[in-house]
Amino acid sequence: MRTAKLPSFEGGSVWLVGAGPGDPGLLTLHALNGLSQADVVLYDALVDESILALAGPQAACVYAGKRSGDGATQSEITKRMIAFARAGKRVLRLKGGDPFVFGRGGEEALALVSAGIPFRIVPGITAGIGGLAYAGIPATHRDINHVVSFVTGHMAGGDVPDGVNWRALGEASPVIVIYMGLKHIGRLADEIVAAGRSPDEAVAIISNATTERQFVLETTLARARLDAAASGIPGPALIVVGDAVRLRPGLDWLSAALHGRKLDADPLGNARSRKRRAASVP
Ligand code: SAH
Repeated sequence: MRTAKLPSFEGGSVWLVGAGPGDPGLLTLHALNGLSQADVVLYDALVDESILALAGPQAACVYAGKRSGDGATQSEITKRMIAFARAGKRVLRLKGGDPFVFGRGGEEALALVSAGIPFRIVPGITAGIGGLAYAGIPATHRDINHVVSFVTGHMAGGDVPDGVNWRALGEASPVIVIYMGLKHIGRLADEIVAAGRSPDEAVAIISNATTERQFVLETTLARARLDAAASGIPGPALIVVGDAVRLRPGLDWLSAALHGRKLDADPLGNARSRKRRAASVP
């Protein structure tokens, strides 16, 4: 493999690195380069083991132990990260997806600034991008949406966020990608229907996206709560709402590759004729 000129990791600094959604092939070269040089890899629950296996033999992998926002634990993680850096280590803070997308990377970076610790941010493929691609759902498609929204379905307190204007979102964003929403899927679907969207609108729940355990459940806003419960689909999961989900049967390249199936020549055919039918209804 050809190598690009990549930076060296200075002792006493921190790299805040996105690990992508799971598949190690989705790491960036900066992430791989950082893993090969780091003394300490401080990783989150969502980071796949196959990615930790790419750290150099000198690296101590330390579990940061946090699944969802808990203020006390978060400040302990930050303190630990700073203490390792002050001890002169090359500290790689490894987070699932992208560190600045629902990952508290912003808070950690601000803490590093306050502590006067040099750092680098290495973006990663966020689950809402990589997971959709692996499920065969385009985040945007010219015939479907000019807007896509990424929204959290979970607040630090564990409830559905009241800071989200679901009505405005439902009106403005034909495709909505919800992170951390599985637990509240019924309430989230209700909010989106209350915003004026059809109960028949397509929904996909993508569990463990891009890993060997990837599983996708297709449902609708009306049935999402019951279907999710009946299937026992596990987290981490993304919820995708919108007509883009209807392209999946034709674009599901991953299952096709696994099962030797051919893809449909015109995956949009169905969605287009549905749109035409809807338009012709008075
Ligand atoms: N920084 C991360 C998001 C962290 S919030 C990123 O950019 O992807 C955690 C949420 O991300 C989970 O609740 C889930 O909604 C989503 N998520 C992360 N990895 C996932 C995966 N492999 N499959 C499905 N959802 C995932």
